[in-house]
Amino acid sequence: MSFGVYVHVPFCKSKCPYCDFYSVLLRDPEAKEKYTDAVVREIRSFKRFFEDDAEHAFMKQAPDSIYFGGGTPSLMEPIRIKEIIKACDDTFGREDDREVTLEANPGTVDQDSLKGFRAMGVNRLSLGVQSFDDQILKKLGRIHKAADSVKAFEDARKAGFGNISIDLIFGIEGQSMESWEDSLRQALELEPEHISLYSLEFMEGTVFTRMLMEGRMKETDPEEDRKMYERAAAVLTEAGYVHYEISNFAKPGFESRHNLKYWDLDDYAGFGPGAHSYMTDDETGYGQRFYHAGDLEGYLRDPLKVTFMEPNGYADDMVEYTITALRLSRGISKSEFSDRFGQEFWGFFGDLARLQFGSFVDTGHAAEDEDNIRLTLKGFNVSNQILSLFV
Ligand code: SF4
Repeated sequence: MSFGVYVHVPFCKSKCPYCDFYSVLLRDPEAKEKYTDAVVREIRSFKRFFEDDAEHAFMKQAPDSIYFGGGTPSLMEPIRIKEIIKACDDTFGREDDREVTLEANPGTVDQDSLKGFRAMGVNRLSLGVQSFDDQILKKLGRIHKAADSVKAFEDARKAGFGNISIDLIFGIEGQSMESWEDSLRQALELEPEHISLYSLEFMEGTVFTRMLMEGRMKETDPEEDRKMYERAAAVLTEAGYVHYEISNFAKPGFESRHNLKYWDLDDYAGFGPGAHSYMTDDETGYGQRFYHAGDLEGYLRDPLKVTFMEPNGYADDMVEYTITALRLSRGISKSEFSDRFGQEFWGFFGDLARLQFGSFVDTGHAAEDEDNIRLTLKGFNVSNQILSLFV
């Protein structure tokens, strides 16, 4: 079982109309200092969960990944990122070979800040490029243009980043296949180690969802959306990227170590407002989820206050593992499943699920052999339908 740390940085320069991640506009000049002090305090206090007699006791492990997500972590000064990393080292111990990722908005970085992040121990950058079409960027409410993304990428290379991921969005009203293919082409020209693709979703509480409900915006035709996905998968695979997860492509050896923890149901501790954690309870061996509300003010008042959810049982862990691990192209090894959970895969899910999964195998949406079950590219396209068999 590996362990990762997630740090949620809740600041943005402006709010993108499609985004439902927790963040606030950075107005208070002292906000970053107050937030850093609170996160450092929270991380250092995690020792309370290593006591044998703690109500929730977790095993102490050094993280092999630290992930700064947001919000816009690139709005932080590098020295504050270093303070937070040091608090992790002091609390959990330090793993030399570790991945430290920072999400960056191309409109908020320059060569100096990137050099600073690199010097402070960040070794992987996740750039929120979203599109190389300025019209689309404007529609998405992004604060940067395509040229800023190219410059940020080149600055990151000059700053010494040898592991850069690019995020791209598709399925946007008014986005043609030509525009999407052009964004893919420009992304490939930069030769990033990793590319994540997102289909635009209308999330509750966002400006786009309100516009949709008021008839001021339209959803992209699902067939067109799927064609864009399939086109991207073909182009990126052809260019040598491994399609290792439904939405993620990497050059061999550059899969996101941190995000793999979510899909493999490994342990992670989340710090900051809106952050979630999943840790294996040392005593019961079951997963325990807990989280902070998305509320910066409340977090600054009491960064140690977390809400514990009902503890998982083995059945919950088996279901959660299955529906996340089937997002990976490698799928699930049935022998590893029974080693981990002490139950046969189909013995747990039953004959009906096996029969229904078999019909997806017959239509080429899934594959099964003696030890492995997985979804195919065709299956990734209708993944919700297939994964619902296991809920
Ligand atoms: S910059 Fe990122 S986190 Fe902030 S509003 Fe935009 S998409 Fe959301």
